Amino acid sequence: MRLLDKIRNVKIQVRFMKFSHRILQVKPSPTLEVTALANALKAQGIDVIGFGSGEPDFDTPAYIKEAAIHAIEKGKTKYTPTGGIPELKKAIINKFKKDNNLEYGPGEVTVNCGGKHSFYNLMQVILNRGDEVIIPAPYWVSYPPMVLLADGNPVIVETTEESGLKMQPEQLEPAITPRTRAVVINSPSNPTGAAYTKKEIERLARVIGDRDIILISDDIYEAILFDGFVFSNIANVSEEMKRKTIVMNGVSKTYSMTGWRIGYMAGDAGIMEQVETLQSHSTSNPTSIAQWAAVAALSGDQSVVAEMVCAFERRRKIIIWALGRVPGFRCINPNGAFYAFPSVKEVYSMKGWAGIEEKYRSEYNSSKLSSYLLEEAKVAVVPGIAFGTDNNIRLSFATSDENIIEGVRRIDAAIRKLE
Ligand code: PMP
Repeated sequence: MRLLDKIRNVKIQVRFMKFSHRILQVKPSPTLEVTALANALKAQGIDVIGFGSGEPDFDTPAYIKEAAIHAIEKGKTKYTPTGGIPELKKAIINKFKKDNNLEYGPGEVTVNCGGKHSFYNLMQVILNRGDEVIIPAPYWVSYPPMVLLADGNPVIVETTEESGLKMQPEQLEPAITPRTRAVVINSPSNPTGAAYTKKEIERLARVIGDRDIILISDDIYEAILFDGFVFSNIANVSEEMKRKTIVMNGVSKTYSMTGWRIGYMAGDAGIMEQVETLQSHSTSNPTSIAQWAAVAALSGDQSVVAEMVCAFERRRKIIIWALGRVPGFRCINPNGAFYAFPSVKEVYSMKGWAGIEEKYRSEYNSSKLSSYLLEEAKVAVVPGIAFGTDNNIRLSFATSDENIIEGVRRIDAAIRKLE
């Protein structure tokens, strides 16, 4: 094809290119964008310290990799049952029994291509146009887009610093309407690291009472808890709450397996059946090899998890201590996960802020601050607005002690220039 024809062809394609109303409602994930930008700068030889990434920095433990290699050698490389191999379902059922005191049968569990896919699938099968999903803010970036992609309405409940950025029963009650289909609980939370105590969970359950609302318990950070914090699940409150709850989890964070893409959920058998139907016409089964690796992860020696959590706990101490010394930063101590979420509100009224306003043309202060930190301090953080609050920034401490110390030193120097 001649060059002119090629150009003409492109033009024609563009003119006829129409997009669905669903995709036009959402933007690319900002956390993945920050990581990509930091990596691009690194590739140019610029020494950027990345606090953007939402994944553990450890290698996947050896016994898990060996199980995958073994699966390849044994020819476990074909389609599997759509909702997961029986061996993995069994390992998941055992995990729920052992760690959460929750009993499920194989028909009440499905395996999906990552925890994100579990949530996406659930939204697709439970929402009709205009159905509402209550999401406490700050929230994980992908919840509202996944609700919108299923033609639902995200209803955001803004939490306060005074209540530790956790949704209070007095806030949940008025957010419920006849269109409420589901409520999301993510504990420990991405981005705040805040976890709900048993009492707090019970108080939220009381508000739900006998209403027909699906409770989505996203427990992906369940294993990463500090100071002996005891994990609580709303499904444990009563048989009725268990009936209403879909528990979501996955191997990404607990076993440093983000690239393997295995998530799972458990709950009502009817919903799980529909999820399997959807999956049978979209992704089919999650990768067979990754499923065998997940069997090993869930059934193997769990001391690797304790070692990783121990490192996260040490890093949390370092980062919270160091951020606490940066002028204008205020941090709550996260109960779990691997994120620091300092309030940076006071930075917005520093003397040098006017210069930032002028230089960075974003609508949001947290975006302007993040751009400044990237340019001035060569440090990548995620603006709080990505999680529904402009008063904060998120720093993932899934990176080395040295990076944390040097990164916060750079942030401190950059902020002091604004005082
Ligand atoms: N839930 C939360 C709160 C998360 O932060 C993430 C990952 N960022 C997930 C679910 C999904 O993780 P994955 O798809 O890797 O299992």
